[in-house]
Parts: sequence; structure tokens; C-alpha cells
Amino acid sequence: MIKSPLLEKMTGYIGGRWTDNAEGNTFDVYNPATGKVIAQVPLMPEQDILAAVAAGKSALKLTSPYPIETRRKWLEDIRDTLKANREEVGRILCMEHGKPLQEAQGEVDYAAGFFDYCSKHIQALDAHTIPEKPKDCTWTVHYRPVGVAGLITPWNFPIGMIAKKLSAALAAGCPSVIKPASETPLTMIALFSLMDKHTDIPDGMVNLVMGKASVIGKVLCQSPDVPMLSFTGSTEVGRKLIIDTAEQVKKLALELGGNAPFIVFDDADLDAAADNLIANKFRGGGQTCVCANRIFVHEKVADVFGQKLAERVNRMTVGDGINGDVDLGPLINQAGFDKVKRHLEDALEKGAKLVAGKEPGELSGGLFFPPTVVHGVNRDMLCYQEETFGPLVPMALFRTEEEVIEAGNDTEFGLASYVFTADAERAQRVAAGLRFGHCGWNTGTGPTPEAPFGGMKASGIGREGGLEGLFEFVEAQTVPRGF
Ligand code: ADP
Repeated sequence: MIKSPLLEKMTGYIGGRWTDNAEGNTFDVYNPATGKVIAQVPLMPEQDILAAVAAGKSALKLTSPYPIETRRKWLEDIRDTLKANREEVGRILCMEHGKPLQEAQGEVDYAAGFFDYCSKHIQALDAHTIPEKPKDCTWTVHYRPVGVAGLITPWNFPIGMIAKKLSAALAAGCPSVIKPASETPLTMIALFSLMDKHTDIPDGMVNLVMGKASVIGKVLCQSPDVPMLSFTGSTEVGRKLIIDTAEQVKKLALELGGNAPFIVFDDADLDAAADNLIANKFRGGGQTCVCANRIFVHEKVADVFGQKLAERVNRMTVGDGINGDVDLGPLINQAGFDKVKRHLEDALEKGAKLVAGKEPGELSGGLFFPPTVVHGVNRDMLCYQEETFGPLVPMALFRTEEEVIEAGNDTEFGLASYVFTADAERAQRVAAGLRFGHCGWNTGTGPTPEAPFGGMKASGIGREGGLEGLFEFVEAQTVPRGF
């Protein structure tokens, strides 16, 4: 069992108090590197979720809003406590997610960055009077908190994803009811432990619920006291939330699946492209929504690029991330492992060639999947159609710019994309043509707290990060004054 000063309480948190888990039902949390149970956390019943919503409602201040200075202080305090505890939070994260320790601790820094950014830009949420005087009135625009927000996060960034949502919610003055993924609730408990000890956030502003997604989802979708949901996860669940909230017309912020194209033109710096692809693709074990999922390489450089990838991939080490020196940890669970294996088998059966990695029949050893590169991928293969969410690099050929823009867009998703070329005009054309919320040019980097990030098409609604993300949890209200 995991031991940590940040996990002294292992329960939900409602109205400023750790819950008592009266019914005593729990679920297991596993370390994917060892397969062992490391904690048991409460399966909270519906009445607890309702209590969390009620606590949130009581913390919402509309007529006497929390001043900007107060909200800024909450954000700064969370930033500071995350920074001060980056090692321990990262250790917990590593043990429940499996990503290498340094990467996990880096994610804590990334999370702190969102609180930092919102604290520095919160003034943008102050009311302002517009310079024109239409209709003989003086018009003031206020940014009101939307209300209690349900924040539902996935397991792939246990601290990063909540940071994106919570920083903007607190900046707006919105109370929240937070549900972590059941694979990774411990990092969230650690965050609540830090907020409890090191911030003055009022009781009821932040509430933690854990347990069955169906029970929690039902309350958050049906309660009229929850006017907004911010969700990161699968497109399938995102669609369900749209349907389940349609009746009440809730405000939704959705960051859903991706199927990122990574395009390498023949004039690109191939070493830089290969280095960036490795860093991008193997982050979080290949389990991020911005991981390159379809690699389009110009036919003139495909063989050379494949070799460069193979050289790099063959140097990578796979193992338990807690040991420090590994590049790649395990996949999150058996279903995740089986999906990557199925995609590899399918690609090889349909004619792709293995450039690096193991044949499916040679795979063994828990949830550790070796970094794998296949060449000769086409649109009939699963790894082209679906998000693999694992360390499989599928390469496809292209010949022309038009063809590769069309191929890149040949998906219902539109989250992240990447283009490598030395030609600036071509990069601009390709970025404009790709219907993706993020298009890296000569970089495989993903989101950052300072810039808006989110999806087009079935990849979602809304943005996180940047000023756009800061405005996600407010409603603009206009007050024209007649006399
Ligand atoms: P992933 O593939 O990352 O597990 P999911 O979409 O299944 O993505 O889950 C993302 C988050 O949404 C998790 O916290 C999960 O428990 C939660 N979730 C799943 N189904 C529902 C639902 N019906 N209502 C609310 N939350 C849900």
C-alpha cells in the first residue's frame, strides 16, 4: 500500500471536510508497473455527490463576489504548494499512472503553470465599460461566475488536467465538484490535501467525489445547481454528456479524443523531426490525446526517416518509472495494452512492415509494451482510423501537399497536428488547411498554460489555457445604465 504524508486521508472532500465514507464501499487503485493494489478509495454514494453539489452552491457568491485579489491569492497558493511538493505529488502520480518519475514531476510543474498563468492574468476578468454609448446608455460588461462546475478528468494527466480546469474555475469564482478518473484518484487526493493545508479557499469551493462514473455523471448532468461541466476524456463519453445535459442546456467545455497527424516533408530537418516525434509520441507511454497517431512521411525520405526512428526507438528503455532511469513506463491497464497489440496485429496482417519493436507473438511482461515502429500504414488499418493510445508509431507515405492535408483531415477528430518543413509558406498553408486546434510547425510540443488549447470537430468544445481558457467559466453579463 502506498504511504505518503499527502495521503493521510483517503476519502472524498466536501464542504471543507474529508468525508467519513459511512457506507464503507471502496474500489482498488493499482500500480500498473507492478500490478499490485496500492490503495482503496471510497465508492461514494449518490447522496455524497448531492452533498458536494449543495456545498458548492453554498460557496457561490453572486451578490458579494470574491474579490479578484482573493481569487488571485488562492491561485498563487495552489501554485506555490504544488511547486513545494512537486517531488511527492510526482511520486504518487508515477505510482498510480506508471509514467517515469521525472516526467510525472514535470507534470506537476506543468500543472503549477496553469495556476500561475491564471493568477497573472485574472485582471482580464474584471468588469469594463465599453467606450461607445449605444442607445444613450453606459454599458458595463461583467464576467460572472457561471456557477457550480462539474470537473471530470481522465487518468492520463492526473494533475495536469485538473489544473487546467480548476485554475480557470477558481479564477472565475466558480465552486467545483471534481471527479478524477478511477485509475488515478490518489494524485487528486494529494492535491486536496495540499489545498486543505496550504490555502484559504472557502469551504465548499472545491469538492472531491470519487466512485462510479454513472452515479456521479447522473447527478452532475441532472442537477439544476450545476450549470456547467468541463470534461476531458473520450469522445464517446463526451457525446453522452452532450445528450444528458441537453435538457437543461448546460454550458459544456469538452476536450475529447484526437488522431494527430505528424507530417514530415522532404525538406524537413529529419533528425529534428525524429527527435520531436520521439518526445511527442512516447510522452505518458503514448497515452496522451496530443500524441502523434498517424505519421505521414514524404516518399523521398520515408526510408531514411524510418531508420532514424528505429535507431532512437532501439535505444529506449522500458520499465517501472519509479526507478528513475527509464524512458517509458507501462500502459495504464490490460484493455489499453490489448488495444495497442490489436492495432499492431491488424497493421501487420494488412501489409505494414515492422521497423522496430517486437512481433505481437513475442510480447510479454505485464503492461510494458515496447516502443514500436511500423511502415506502410494505410487508411484501412485500425491504427490509422482510431487513437492507439500507446507506443506504436505508424508511418504512411505521401507525395503532395494537397494529398497530405486531405489525409491529415481524414478523421472526425481535430485536436493536435504537426508539420515539419523548412518552407515557411508551405507551413502556413498546411497549418491553415489542417482542421486541428493545435498545429506544431517544426515542433512536437503540446499545450502550454499561456496558449489556448482545444479541439475542432469531434475533438471538443472550448479551450483550456491562455486568455480563452481563463474565460471558460464566466458568463458575460451586460449592464446598460440609462441614467
Ligand atoms: P478514458 O478513455 O480516458 O478512460 P473516459 O471518457 O472513459 O476516458 O473517462 C474520462 C473520465 O470521465 C473519467 O473520470 C471517467 O470516470 C469519467 N466518465 C466516464 N463515463 C462517464 C459518465 N457517463 N459521466 C460522467 N463521467 C464519466
